[in-house]
Amino acid sequence: MLTGISIVFLGGDARQVEIINKCLELDAGVSVVGFDHLDPPLTGVSQEKISPALLANADVIILPVTGCDDQGTIPAPFSAEQLVIEQKWFSSIRRGTLVYTGIAKKLLKQMGTEHGFRIIELLERDDIAIYNSIPTAEGAVMMAIQNTDITIHGSTCIVLGMGRTGFTLASTLQGLGATVKVGVRREDDVARAVQMGWKPFATRDLAANIGEVDLIFNTIPTMIVTAQIISKLPRRTVVIDLASAPGGTDFRFAEKRGIKAILAPGIPGIVAPKTAGIIMANTTCQSILEEYHLRGDEE
Ligand code: NAP
Repeated sequence: MLTGISIVFLGGDARQVEIINKCLELDAGVSVVGFDHLDPPLTGVSQEKISPALLANADVIILPVTGCDDQGTIPAPFSAEQLVIEQKWFSSIRRGTLVYTGIAKKLLKQMGTEHGFRIIELLERDDIAIYNSIPTAEGAVMMAIQNTDITIHGSTCIVLGMGRTGFTLASTLQGLGATVKVGVRREDDVARAVQMGWKPFATRDLAANIGEVDLIFNTIPTMIVTAQIISKLPRRTVVIDLASAPGGTDFRFAEKRGIKAILAPGIPGIVAPKTAGIIMANTTCQSILEEYHLRGDEE
């Protein structure tokens, strides 16, 4: 249980609501900022305005998946007001306070180092990335269906990268009856792909493997679907780029050549906010419990 722990939520979307509800279930004291327009409204929480006193009283602060930008702006889609944390307010956060976010940008990291609060980046965790790969793969398939006039079944798909997202996506496409080719660079990934019944090739040989491809899904966060590759693609090919912005595709050249190429960020929060929220909620609460358990052992 989280009894006696004071948790402050600063902004966030539907995913954050799942984390709030989980914290309430576990008996934490919950204050929220940026949820004044949520319908139906949250119950059992204290609706607040952001202030140094609020931050000073928090044992745990939970920011949205994208954290805050380098001007301190925090996304708060359930509020009519813009939510901004002023830089001088970071000094109110007590040393050792746990600050959760998906990813921490420069300002937050710098403030954490300066003022001694502990930043936990949930999207860095392997378990979260693997759980998130499920809605990501489903959303990518949805986009493929929406942007082609053929079935995934019987199509030839290339998945670039066989990490947490690429692996799940390749399995999902295989399950739908596609021929799946995977672009990898490690020998163990080649072996795993063969075992899975996929057709691996080295990413450096991408140009030689695009002859009959219907769909390319990129998960490699570096320029890989270059102008040179795009110039050789069949005109029907659709590229769905899942890698973090700016993606790994030359979108300018794809447009010039009339190849449909889509950068698709933040899919879990778009196609399955509830599931994505439950994933974040379970991991966040488990992490808070572990942190407090460890502190209890140390005392
Ligand atoms: P990951 O587990 O680290 O996998 C990345 C894959 O890319 C690995 O197979 C890696 O190969 C390969 N790779 C990286 N650099 C490469 C290079 N220069 N040449 C060839 N291969 C390279 O990451 P992930 O969790 O799957 O995430 C992949 C990307 O998708 C990230 O940018 C992430 O932010 C993004 N993402 C987007 C969404 C969305 O909604 N669009 C959702 C989840 C993740 P090695 O193993 O050999 O390094």
